[in-house]
Amino acid sequence: MARLLIVEDDEGIRVPLARALEREGYAADGVASGEEALRLASAGDDAHDLVIIDVGLPGIDGLEVCRRIRARRPAVPILFLTAQDAELDVVDGLDAGADDYVTKPFRVSELLARVRAHLRRTTSPQLSEAGDVRLDRAARRAWRAGDELELSPKEYDLLALLVAEAGRVVTRERIMAEVWDENWFGSTKTLDMHVSWLRRKLGEDATDPQHVITVRGVGLRFEP
Ligand code: CA
Repeated sequence: MARLLIVEDDEGIRVPLARALEREGYAADGVASGEEALRLASAGDDAHDLVIIDVGLPGIDGLEVCRRIRARRPAVPILFLTAQDAELDVVDGLDAGADDYVTKPFRVSELLARVRAHLRRTTSPQLSEAGDVRLDRAARRAWRAGDELELSPKEYDLLALLVAEAGRVVTRERIMAEVWDENWFGSTKTLDMHVSWLRRKLGEDATDPQHVITVRGVGLRFEP
C-alpha cells in the first residue's frame, strides 16, 4: 500500500483530502506545518511514497520544505498545492524540486489522478509485459511480438496505463484525467481517435480487437 504525506495547515483541506486518499486505498499522514513534516523526516519516518505540500505554510514555507525533502529523497514524487493565479509559486515550486502542482480550489478527482500517475511512474516496474506487448517505461518504448511500435506520446501513455491495469477496466474519466488533463474532462472524442490509432499500430482488427477492448458505457480494458 502506498503511503502519502500531506503537509497543509488548512484543516478544511488536509482532513478531507486524507480521507479521500484513504478511501482510494492509500495510507495518508497529515501534518499542519513544515516543521512537523521535517521532524518526521529527520526522525527517519520518511518512508512516504509521495508528498503533497501546500506552498503557503506558516513558519518554514512549502518551497523550503520541498527543497529539504528533495535533498534527502531525490526520487520521491512531490506535488504542490498552490493558490490560484500564483504563477510565481509554480515556477518556484518546480525550481525547488516539485514534480507537479494542483491549483486551489481543486477537484479531489483531479488530485487523485495526478497522484496515481506519479505513483505509477515511480512504483511500476521499469519493464512490463502483458501478453505479447512489452513496455520499457524508462525509455518510453513499446513492442508487440518483438516489433517496436511507433507511438505518439499520448498513444504511449494510453497503452502504458491500460497495460498497468491489464485485465481490469479503466474508466474513460480516469483515462482522460491521467493521460490528458483536467481540461479534457467531458470531451472524449480525442480519446476515441487515439484508441483507434493505437489499435491500428498494435495491428488489431478494428471490428474485433483482441487487446484494446471497449467496455461499453464504462471505458477500456487491456486483454493480454
Ligand atoms: Ca496554507
